[in-house]
Amino acid sequence: MSTDALVIGCGVIGLSTAICLRESGLDVRIVTAALPEKTTSAVAAAIWYPYRAYPENSVLRWGARTFEVLENLARAPETGVRMREGVELRREAAGEPWWAAAIPGVRRCEEDELPPGYRDGHAFLVPIIEMPVYLRYLMDRFAATGGEIEHRAIDRLEDLSEEAGVLVNCAGLGAGELVGDDSLRPIRGQIMRVRNPGLDRFSLDEDDPEGVTYIVPRSEDCILGGTADEDSWDTEPDAAVAAGILRRCTALEPRLANAEVLEHKVGLRPGRPEVRLEVEQRGGGAPVVHNYGHGGSGVTLSWGCAGEAADLVREASRG
Ligand SMILES: Cc1cc2nc3c(=O)[nH]c(=O)nc-3n(C[C@H](O)[C@H](O)[C@H](O)COP(=O)(O)OP(=O)(O)OC[C@H]3O[C@@H](n4cnc5c(N)ncnc54)[C@H](O)[C@@H]3O)c2cc1C
Repeated sequence: MSTDALVIGCGVIGLSTAICLRESGLDVRIVTAALPEKTTSAVAAAIWYPYRAYPENSVLRWGARTFEVLENLARAPETGVRMREGVELRREAAGEPWWAAAIPGVRRCEEDELPPGYRDGHAFLVPIIEMPVYLRYLMDRFAATGGEIEHRAIDRLEDLSEEAGVLVNCAGLGAGELVGDDSLRPIRGQIMRVRNPGLDRFSLDEDDPEGVTYIVPRSEDCILGGTADEDSWDTEPDAAVAAGILRRCTALEPRLANAEVLEHKVGLRPGRPEVRLEVEQRGGGAPVVHNYGHGGSGVTLSWGCAGEAADLVREASRG
């Protein structure tokens, strides 16, 4: 049966986009190879924080819009979103983060907020998104509007032309093969989940020479990270890497020393020189709105990109 829009992908980008479309009155279906719990989105830490996503001016716009939406969702704990303060730490004196204009209240750290070895840093209050809970919330919200999800992999977009007026490509890293985009590359991220020993502030250190380091406290657990290995397709957690993550995070926050380890996970971020958010007319088939390549910021940019993708779909359906 033909529908107004067919969204490919059921990660945070596909779900947010499908919800925006559905809530604006269009008929929408999602078709997906993996259900949300098996996506990269389920592995995300996830904190509002622009990381490895471009171009910067659009990231500021998408990030600001997403912040607004997530801040509202944080009023309802069942969404899995909550506001938390934390710090981005620097080993050298540093100016404001480049993305500071996207959110309110970024401030320079006080001396006593800097752990030993750090010379500077900024504190800010942002949404922390507990992804397994949040993805369930998004699924329920989509289903509540009558949206349906079909579990199947797509080999070629052309095969879907009869099924919808507009195709919406939210296939994350899978878009590389689907549309032959060689600029889309994996950025492997390994994390571990430990029981939360009572932390309520997050800490981020992008400059650690041994690897990006972050601690993200959630309700029951903490996500400890991480890695950002370009061009690595390896989805198996590595024990030596995990030991390094634990060592670096414990140096930053000694209360993690005896925290019970619950799980190790790996996700492949969809890295691209720029997020692809545009309409493409492919041959005589249905127009395609692309919304993929969000790197390490898919959650941070999700609602901003979803809203603009939905505008593009409405324009494309008018022909
Ligand atoms: C360790 C780690 C930590 C992270 N932390 C953060 C963070 O703190 N904040 C933040 O904003 N971001 C973070 N990210 C990045 C974030 O997870 C990604 O940017 C985001 O998940 C991308 O979402 P997506 O929906 O595009 O892709 P995905 O979640 O990968 O979903 C893609 C969907 O497309 C489907 N699909 C693919 N190919 C096909 C096909 N051929 N046919 C049908 N379906 C297909 C898949 O099955 C899947 O459902 C992190 C990532 C990692 C790995």
